[in-house]
Amino acid sequence: MKKVNIVTLPGDGIGPEVTAVAVDVLTEAARQAGVEITVTEHLFGGCCYEKNGVPVTDEILDSCKQAKIVLLGAVGGPQWDNLSADKRPEAGLLKLRKELGVYANLRPIQVYPALAGASTLKEEVIEGTDILIVRELTGGIYFGEPRYTSEENGDPFSVDTMKYSRSEVQRVARVAFEAAQKRDKRVCSVDKANVLESSRMWRKSILEIADEYPDVELSHMLVDNCAMQIIRDPKQFDVMVTGNLFGDILSDAASMLTGSLGMLPSASLGGENGLYEPVHGSAPDIAGQGVANPLAAVASAALLCRYSLHLESAAQNIEAAIQKVLESGLRTADLYSEEPGTTLANTHQIADMLLKTVSNKEMITHQA
Ligand code: NAD
Repeated sequence: MKKVNIVTLPGDGIGPEVTAVAVDVLTEAARQAGVEITVTEHLFGGCCYEKNGVPVTDEILDSCKQAKIVLLGAVGGPQWDNLSADKRPEAGLLKLRKELGVYANLRPIQVYPALAGASTLKEEVIEGTDILIVRELTGGIYFGEPRYTSEENGDPFSVDTMKYSRSEVQRVARVAFEAAQKRDKRVCSVDKANVLESSRMWRKSILEIADEYPDVELSHMLVDNCAMQIIRDPKQFDVMVTGNLFGDILSDAASMLTGSLGMLPSASLGGENGLYEPVHGSAPDIAGQGVANPLAAVASAALLCRYSLHLESAAQNIEAAIQKVLESGLRTADLYSEEPGTTLANTHQIADMLLKTVSNKEMITHQA
């Protein structure tokens, strides 16, 4: 059997709880497709700071770079909120993304039919929604220099820099165009070109390569309008490509189309490297209670099969298992609303059903 080593960074809060489920499901789905997964686990984020004084060490970064495939849980928690910027768990995350060179963050926003009622939006508005948000991940205002805090006439001020180069924009745009070619062949580029220089560069750079993808229809939308359109008529979008800051905000807004942050997976790609993580954070409010929704982490494992292992059958096996669990009526608390036919479940119960379904040992017969 072919062997593949991956690195897992479970992180803080609910990170370890959801990552454990994702690893079990991934291992089983890959095994069925003829690949044996071996796992190297490291501390990352707040727990790494506690042991090493930094959110990620050079050794851990090297291990990730060597494996090329990383499955991450989540980082952060109130106990680390007041650390200096370079010691905070999020700094580890930014460093990891930068070191792996994963410049394109793919966030599929799919509304599962069984959950169409779980969204705060009307069912007829969201059902059938299938958006792929491609967010630039290693540039823009989260990395731009200079960034500093100073004082002017006794009045403190801070500066961040939003910078995009043509090559940075075009490489992420290519990911979006190529993804669209395998979908509905539409790309909507989101910027703030009416105000920002960096957005005008963004738009110009994308237009320069659009002709190379004649089968893909390109449109442009201002980010403020886009925030409104995602809520008003999400079905109008196929692939959306945008910068780091706008993508961060728009994808969280779009997450509510699916009913919960706990449903959203992500893949961050660059060259041969792939970093897979749920979109949600470490949810300190529910950590350690065994009630976290593991489905975003498990769906991230499906993306890992698709983009890094090139095991489409394993990816589909995992995605079908997620769908079946939802159809069975089991819901973690973040999705549960006393709807008839649904039952409140904990992380372990969801994990159990996923594993049985992926391994085809038992078809789900759960009656709510
Ligand atoms: P969060 O995503 O952790 O939680 C927001 C809300 O959603 C909470 O009520 C939480 O209980 C719920 N939730 C999130 N994921 C869930 C899941 N899988 N199952 C059930 N419910 C879930 O966001 P936050 O509260 O703003 O941040 C908490 C910490 O996480 C902070 O320290 C923040 O910096 C960090 N964070 C980390 C990442 C990451 O690691 N990629 C992303 C966002 C936030």
